[in-house]
Amino acid sequence: MSENYTPTARTRLVREAERAVYDRAAAYRILDEGFICHVGFVVDGQPFVIPTGYGRVGDNLYIHGSAASRMLRNLDQGLAVCVTVTLLDGLVLARSIFNHSMNYRSVVVLGTAVAVQDRSEKLEALRLLSEHILPGRWADSRQPNEKEIKATLVLRLPITEFSAKVRQGAPIDDEDDYGFSTWAGVIPLSMVAGEPVDDPRLMAGQVVPSYAKGYSRVR
Ligand SMILES: Cc1cc2nc3c(=O)[nH]c(=O)nc-3n(C[C@H](O)[C@H](O)[C@H](O)COP(=O)(O)OP(=O)(O)OC[C@H]3O[C@@H](n4cnc5c(N)ncnc54)[C@H](O)[C@@H]3O)c2cc1C
Repeated sequence: MSENYTPTARTRLVREAERAVYDRAAAYRILDEGFICHVGFVVDGQPFVIPTGYGRVGDNLYIHGSAASRMLRNLDQGLAVCVTVTLLDGLVLARSIFNHSMNYRSVVVLGTAVAVQDRSEKLEALRLLSEHILPGRWADSRQPNEKEIKATLVLRLPITEFSAKVRQGAPIDDEDDYGFSTWAGVIPLSMVAGEPVDDPRLMAGQVVPSYAKGYSRVR
């Protein structure tokens, strides 16, 4: 899983190539910290980019949704797909407006998704997808019934053709601009969970579970 990865002509970074990460383990760390992706596909010449949740399980990404979803039904037909995950780490304030930037980690996966047909594999994929987003919650929830399993489509996208790109650190100004008098640096940004809020219909005696209290995406 940690082997270096040789990019294809389609996934080799061209601009700022030094920010490219061709390492499967590094790409997986990004995929494991995120849980929202943007799914791009083309239907009748019209590109769509739809946000959705995902889970990584081994060398596959799983997405799920209503069996009536247009996105999932289209992807189920073997459409080419591009899945992008972005983690935003900061705003980078340079001295020149031109050199302002963002610190980020992102992954692009290209491929073709297939529907998970086997019932037990589908249920396991749903469990692992749930565990990817909120470890511990699956076991504490009512399990899906047959009707719910049937109404849910699960797609598997093998992570075979992918790229990762990372920008971290201080601004990079033109040498002449270091004498320009203004503040420069980084405003760090991160996703931080707030205090869990009780459902107004919470059953008496229920307390906030530890996985909800201490929720963090940092792995
Ligand atoms: C953070 C996040 C997590 C999500 N997680 C999931 C998930 O795990 N599973 C899941 O099935 N769905 C998820 N969604 C919803 C997802 O974005 C789609 O709305 C949903 O899958 C229905 O898609 P559809 O193809 O049936 O939509 P359709 O009804 O076929 O879409 C028709 C049109 O509606 C518009 N549209 C659809 N979705 C959105 C949107 N989110 N924002 C703005 N316009 C939209 C687009 O113009 C689209 O072409 C998530 C959305 C967000 C923002």
